[in-house]
Amino acid sequence: MTEPLIDPFQRAISYLRVSVTDRCDFRCVYCMSENMTFLPKKELLTLEELDRMCTTFVRMGVEKLRITGGEPLVRKGIMTFFDAMTRHLESGALRELTLTTNGSQLERFAQPLHDAGVRRVNISLDTLDEKKFADVTRWGRLPQVMRGIDAAQKAGLRVKINTVALKGFNEDELFPLVDWCAERDMDLTFIEVMPMGDIGNEDRIDQYWKLTDLRAQLAERFTLTDLAERTGGPARYVRAEETGQKIGFITPLSHNFCESCNRVRLTCTGELYMCLGQEDMADLRAPLRNNPGNDEPLEDAIRAAIARKPKGHDFDYSRQTVDGRVSRHMSHTGG
Ligand code: SAM
Ligand code: SF4
Repeated sequence: MTEPLIDPFQRAISYLRVSVTDRCDFRCVYCMSENMTFLPKKELLTLEELDRMCTTFVRMGVEKLRITGGEPLVRKGIMTFFDAMTRHLESGALRELTLTTNGSQLERFAQPLHDAGVRRVNISLDTLDEKKFADVTRWGRLPQVMRGIDAAQKAGLRVKINTVALKGFNEDELFPLVDWCAERDMDLTFIEVMPMGDIGNEDRIDQYWKLTDLRAQLAERFTLTDLAERTGGPARYVRAEETGQKIGFITPLSHNFCESCNRVRLTCTGELYMCLGQEDMADLRAPLRNNPGNDEPLEDAIRAAIARKPKGHDFDYSRQTVDGRVSRHMSHTGG
């Protein structure tokens, strides 16, 4: 192992999120427009390049890898990559290999993922109503995702449901979603909608359902105890005492979580974003592609990038305009 990655604010970088494709089989309204133009294949890191990239980060102290997208499970041959990462779990260098998925392909992939060493999976689901599900995802079908969730649990994967809190859309499903997750022994995390990418006519301020309001509604029915658990990310957790259930809130807008940030994000083209809410990035594809068989230039580029990791982001809805908006889509950086 080489020197660990420490940024200028003394935060150790131990968590890498990797987007393996910008493509998706859904078109969620808050994430993509209906007519997306995707990147030409040659722009993407190959599966071998993804392996080399992740292996380099692991050597530099990354202990947790989260694979995302776009939809990671629509990337052709993706199991080859997961299977290759198993060696880092086996060596003990990597503590966790996980993914965020829309669940559409899990019926097929849950067991192979478990075989590769994945133990937990985040599945995004905003509603339990078939019609509303088709509306919000445009191309998604709820029964297919439900079969995916069943398969994941059957394979022994611990499931966490991620729900984007959308005003006027799933406000009325707060308790049904909480109850459904409790019945199935799944954790649940609510995410505030973020100002990412140009997605057409959707007005983000209209969609914005403050999680402090959502939490207040939960508190009407449950006794909520704050949990000390921190993941170094924007999530905060409570336990609903009546059910013992863990519920998370990802609030990048109404709370600042940057001081403990331990993560960086790699796009499917090999750009490293040191902060989800800032435009600054470092191209890691060039040092990787231009130096086959020699990882030193890549390591130097990674260190130089981490030395530029900013203190925090600038998202702000407080003035009723979307300030600090970043132009790229969530599917580009990986949510
Ligand atoms: N396709 C996979 C999925 O949906 O889980 C992985 C990628 S997706 C970009 C990752 C997460 O980002 C999902 O939970 C999705 O709901 C969330 N997301 C997408 N656009 C968002 C936005 N504008 N604000 C907040 N969350 C968003
Ligand atoms: Fe696809 Fe995930 Fe974006 Fe929905 S949130 S369009 S499933 S990448």
